[in-house]
Amino acid sequence: MATANKNELSEAGQAFLASIESPKYDRDIINGLKPFLEDKAPEDIKTFYSRDELAKLAAIKGTERDVEQRMPVKLTRHFFELARTSDPLKKIIKADPSETFNLAGSEDPGYQMDFAPVEGMLHKYEMGLLYAVSTCSAHCRFCYREELISQKDIERQDGTVARKGLAKIVPVTDYIRTHNEIVAANGGRHPETGREKLREVLLSGGDPMVLPNRKLGEWMAALAEAGVESIRLGTKEMSFYPKRFDEAFLAMLDQFHETWPEVGFRLMIHFNHPDEFLLKDDNGEYRTNPNGSLMWHADTLEAMQGVVSRGWINVENQAPIIKDVNDDPDALRVMQRALYRVGVGNHYFFCGRDIVAYRAFNVPIERAWQVLNESQKGLSGVETHARLSITHYKGKTEVAAVTNEPIPGVPGTENGVLIFKILRNALDAPDRGKVCIVGRNPDAIWFDDYEDRVIFDEAGLFDYGRVDKKRIELKEKLDVAV
Ligand code: SF4
Repeated sequence: MATANKNELSEAGQAFLASIESPKYDRDIINGLKPFLEDKAPEDIKTFYSRDELAKLAAIKGTERDVEQRMPVKLTRHFFELARTSDPLKKIIKADPSETFNLAGSEDPGYQMDFAPVEGMLHKYEMGLLYAVSTCSAHCRFCYREELISQKDIERQDGTVARKGLAKIVPVTDYIRTHNEIVAANGGRHPETGREKLREVLLSGGDPMVLPNRKLGEWMAALAEAGVESIRLGTKEMSFYPKRFDEAFLAMLDQFHETWPEVGFRLMIHFNHPDEFLLKDDNGEYRTNPNGSLMWHADTLEAMQGVVSRGWINVENQAPIIKDVNDDPDALRVMQRALYRVGVGNHYFFCGRDIVAYRAFNVPIERAWQVLNESQKGLSGVETHARLSITHYKGKTEVAAVTNEPIPGVPGTENGVLIFKILRNALDAPDRGKVCIVGRNPDAIWFDDYEDRVIFDEAGLFDYGRVDKKRIELKEKLDVAV
């Protein structure tokens, strides 16, 4: 098996690492509810929670309804300033006792651990996802990675129970090299799993932008030298602390590109709502530039222009549609338009996942589709690339259409239908494009809510037995393949 570590980088790789500057950042973070409960938060931030709200949160502290047990509280001053005048932004980071009224949900949404051939790495499709860090500058209450960030014990396929570990450079790059060597020696497919080359890696977490430049550079250099064709970095830092995208970070990216010009780099950013980056006037209206375009927050615009102006960096936004945050067609219309104008693609909007307590955050699936569809009316074709995706255990699935009219002669369609379409199947790539049609259920929040009204299912979304069998088979194959 090939081995690699940061000391074994090529001379060019070592020169790249030596060139990196890692400044320290003062994000002015408030960590936890304690500073609020003990009246120790900075004077102007204290009022973020009312006395009544704090009393209710204190009353459930230490009980099974403790909101911080579910998801730690954290906020930056930059985001706090934005949230002062925005209820949707408050909702993103402000803990609320209603979060834990109903704790139903999956501790490992999407059975992530089944796809982890080495600790901290998920291997799906042709892509690897790395848990590079387990925190962010601030914490979204609806986070899909709450189990990682709150370091919960997770049961694995083999019955063992442990926290999700973070990815480490040597085992990850060893795995990538070995997988790709076997694929290359077998005509482009792994003989056990049928998978193709692992050509793209997503640095995720948590938010990798909380790591110092040096650590990010170590990951990027190691992945480039392991033969990865493209690196993605998933981050909400553009919203929580845009000053992180400073000259030192951009210089590191430039040097990376100069050293490995053949390796692509994509920044997957996460804005839920335009209040995260647009300026408002005293009446709460968005401020406009002389030409009528919407005016950005200066720090965020500078950060965005820094990355977008490097033509070799792709920047794409993706975000879940969350109750009382962005289930608002007008807000999403403004956001898609404003992002595209500065060169940011609108990639996916997501239906909420079945995380623990998902009922506190998720919008009904049909409502999410209507919100996005409505938001895209009046936008140009290039501004409306975003699709609505819901993550089934089988993989990414598009909510492709919702109809209002019955299909003549087809029982179960009296109130119209919803059409799911498989975009990417973590188990079976050829499943792409297969559809599933269900009778409408306006209250449905998760697939289970359609179980009793499946009309046509060539995608096999409701064949749970088949899905389970497939994933167990895959896990067995991965175990022998590593
Ligand atoms: S930034 Fe992303 S990973 Fe971090 S708390 Fe928010 S949703 Fe979770």
